[in-house]
Amino acid sequence: MQKIDPKEYQKRLDTLSEILNGIAHRADELSQQRCPYKNRHNQCTASFGCRNKRKPSTEGELPRCAGDDKLDYRKAWE
Ligand code: SF4
Repeated sequence: MQKIDPKEYQKRLDTLSEILNGIAHRADELSQQRCPYKNRHNQCTASFGCRNKRKPSTEGELPRCAGDDKLDYRKAWE
């Protein structure tokens, strides 16, 4: 079995850490602009009440989200 070079191992860990930190930072920024409960179809997946929640366009679908992503959506949660 081939031995692991500790310096090469650390270098790879640092690279991986840098990549994941960038992803986490961007996700953190986006979570402050778009409600994390809004799916890609602008439907609400939250199980709690919210003033931005509207009736679904078709019965049986998830409720629509009327939030405009410009305001702090967290104040609308009930
Ligand atoms: S209705 Fe409220 S909780 Fe649901 S996705 Fe929109 S802002 Fe988020």
